[in-house]
Amino acid sequence: MNEVWEWTCGKFEDADKMSSPLQGATMKFLAEWQQAKRVLEIGCFTGYSALAWYEATESTKAEIITLELDPKMIAASRRTFDKYKVNDRITLIEGPAQASLAKLSGTFDIIFVDANKEGYEGYVKYILDKQLLSPHGFIMCDNIFARGMTISTDANPTLPEKVRPYWTECGKALKRFNTFCKNDTRIDTILLPVYDGVTLIKWKPSTFLE
Ligand code: SAM
Repeated sequence: MNEVWEWTCGKFEDADKMSSPLQGATMKFLAEWQQAKRVLEIGCFTGYSALAWYEATESTKAEIITLELDPKMIAASRRTFDKYKVNDRITLIEGPAQASLAKLSGTFDIIFVDANKEGYEGYVKYILDKQLLSPHGFIMCDNIFARGMTISTDANPTLPEKVRPYWTECGKALKRFNTFCKNDTRIDTILLPVYDGVTLIKWKPSTFLE
């Protein structure tokens, strides 16, 4: 993971899309705790977070499926997976996440939503409707604060002007996503004010029992 982190930072201008090492450590902690046997990731980038899931599930030998759309990032993550010989448990599905999701069956113990922010609501709704989340699994959604823009466009005066319009639009989409989470009676949701905002979602016990 450390090598991929360094390589990504040196090679990609938008390396800030990658999870931070501290967040990677958190993901590993949670995956080990969960004893995850199947992990789904929406948004692969250079494969850093997929490696976190891989390293954390050494004992359970989890199957990890990661979805990526951008040909440049598909090439980068394939390089990562080949270089570190992790193709035994990691499968990269190429293409738009919504179409890739439709190809999946069974359930996942951890689902990491970390792709296009306007897609979060559709992804999570689909995952819940199709019951792709295992009864005791959780969904982890990244960048819920959208650099502060979800809260207010005044929330982050130091956000560079070059990326401000992008994050402003993300903030609007994530505000809608937060409302969706709050109103969906099937789930319990907690928004943790860590990193760029992380939402955890699980089934409500009553939903699971029905
Ligand atoms: N999970 C990665 C990590 O922590 O290192 C970072 C993922 S980055 C924030 C988001 C990725 O999602 C980008 O590589 C982007 O190309 C991809 N993406 C964006 N829209 C997508 C879509 N509709 N379907 C699949 N992947 C998408």
